[in-house]
Amino acid sequence: MNDYLKQLPGPLLKIIREIGQVSDDLNLVAFLVGGIVRDCILERSNFDVDIVVEGKARVLAKALAGRWNCRIVLHKQFQTATLFYKNFLIDISSARNETYDKPGALPIVQPGTVAEDLFRRDFTINALAVCLNKRHNGQLLDPLGGFSDLIKGKIRIMHDHSFLDDPTRILRAVRFQKRYKFSLSDRTRQCLKLAIRSNCERTVTSQRLFVEFKKIMKEADPLPALKMLNRTRFLRFIKPQATFNYHLVRSVQHFYDSNPRLSVLFEDEDFRWLSYFLAFISFFDADARNALVRRFHFTKHEKKSIIDALYKERSGKILSSRNIKKSRIFKELKKFNVPTLIFFRCAMPSQDRKEGIQWYLDKGRYFQLSLTGEDLKEMGVSPGHRMGEILSNVLDHKIDYNLKSRKAELLVAKKFIGSIESP
Ligand code: ATP
Repeated sequence: MNDYLKQLPGPLLKIIREIGQVSDDLNLVAFLVGGIVRDCILERSNFDVDIVVEGKARVLAKALAGRWNCRIVLHKQFQTATLFYKNFLIDISSARNETYDKPGALPIVQPGTVAEDLFRRDFTINALAVCLNKRHNGQLLDPLGGFSDLIKGKIRIMHDHSFLDDPTRILRAVRFQKRYKFSLSDRTRQCLKLAIRSNCERTVTSQRLFVEFKKIMKEADPLPALKMLNRTRFLRFIKPQATFNYHLVRSVQHFYDSNPRLSVLFEDEDFRWLSYFLAFISFFDADARNALVRRFHFTKHEKKSIIDALYKERSGKILSSRNIKKSRIFKELKKFNVPTLIFFRCAMPSQDRKEGIQWYLDKGRYFQLSLTGEDLKEMGVSPGHRMGEILSNVLDHKIDYNLKSRKAELLVAKKFIGSIESP
């Protein structure tokens, strides 16, 4: 096995070896390709297994799924399959040859060799493959000089039309450049500028652009890439002539760094990028936000955050009221999801507002009653508005007076039932 792959964790290396063996059994030529090869050479971790086979990907995928008894999803349209095995995601695709009918269009795809498959990729550093078959096991296929570019720290497109064919590559070029602290080759930089000057983003859907933009927001430090995109004027695809708030993105970053517990808690969830994005577009007014959620594909949760961020001033005023009770903070902030709260926390100007939000993030949002409607029914309260009112009052008490037990909640409930019933 190639030295580069040796740094992969043992279980993953075993999986990759088995893919080679099964490919040999089926007489298929199989390669490990893309980001994982690039990152192995750079000695960075990457566990996304991308396999390309000459021939039918689904034959190999089905054989592996049978051997491992794991979940398999076949994507017929693209002749690809995904396997879910031992916490790893393994994508298997058939080698293909792509041509573009017109700039920005989706490519016309035909079966091809692995070398051809590498030619259709974005940059030379992503056009590297490692053979998994026994005969050439571990050999690096590098028809475009990707290895040398990796060593030199260069991002290089395959041909002058690359950014025009697929303008999302502009976002990818900037992302890789900033992540690895590489530079664009001179020709690549010229082509990137020319493509932007020709308004190439108009030939591709907003959705496709946003998929790549989101990956930038998910980088460990998205700011250098965002600043570069702004300098090149490419961010106009989000909103022409917009002013973005880089300073606030930095504050959100500091917030996460100084709250490691929150970072760990939200690691697997999409919170972090969304808080960055809310900070980035914090100058957008209601019209701009509505236009944004109409143009791009956001989830319900993301849309809510983008619109809710407008309530910053209003909530801020409430939070800075004199002697505000914790239960009032709870009531005000429970309407918002976590990325919005983190955005508020960083964007609010005064310490008292920040402290209120911090309390809610750390403690407040976990408050809930042990008491239920059923308990109240047993106490003679019938379901409806009154029951809701009692539960809400008991919760306020629990928050403000730190009620620790169910018994204490029941006592407070009894008191409320009494006070409501007495004339
Ligand atoms: P990351 O470390 O960010 O996951 P990656 O290179 O693995 O980086 P993906 O977006 O998963 O990124 O892409 C996998 C591979 O698919 C890339 O290495 C590249 O070869 C190819 N690829 C992705 N997008 C494009 C594109 N727009 N044009 C050409 N090739 C692409």
